[in-house]
Amino acid sequence: MTGKAVDNIKPLPGESYDAFMGRAMKAAFADLFVDQQNEEHVRSRIKRGDFSYAIRLMKDWFRRKPKDIEVLRGLKAYLIQRRAELRLAKAAYARTLRKNRRAKRAASDTRVCVVCGKSIAHKRAGAETCSPKCRVKKCRDNESLTPKTGRSDKSRVMEAHNPILAVAKTVESQ
Ligand SMILES: [Zn+2]
Repeated sequence: MTGKAVDNIKPLPGESYDAFMGRAMKAAFADLFVDQQNEEHVRSRIKRGDFSYAIRLMKDWFRRKPKDIEVLRGLKAYLIQRRAELRLAKAAYARTLRKNRRAKRAASDTRVCVVCGKSIAHKRAGAETCSPKCRVKKCRDNESLTPKTGRSDKSRVMEAHNPILAVAKTVESQ
């Protein structure tokens, strides 16, 4: 008997070859999983950003050898530091990518402001105006095109749905 699970796998009476090989493979992977529970291997996993596997190794390692807690604490600190580093690198990469794509879009964008005619190449999709000033001007121009009734829509709607208001109005005017 050795410490390796795979060495203790023997064919069972009446067991098929495939079933035996399945058990042997499972045992080999279980041995590998335990062999990888050392400082050097876990550190290399963390270095390349393989965090979830490193955590699985560390959890099983602690379950098997709780006395290694100080080594595991050191590895955990390294994992937290490395995770922050990789997040920053990823964010910087994404920022540059967005910047380049925006510049590329703007270069072929010929849209202009509907109010003043200035270029709005760097604005979002669906933008019509170059600035809040032009947006307000556009709204004012649209308003002046719609006829004024002298009464707000809200009061007319309320009257239509409330006969008492309508009657009161009639009595008032007599
Ligand atoms: Zn404008």
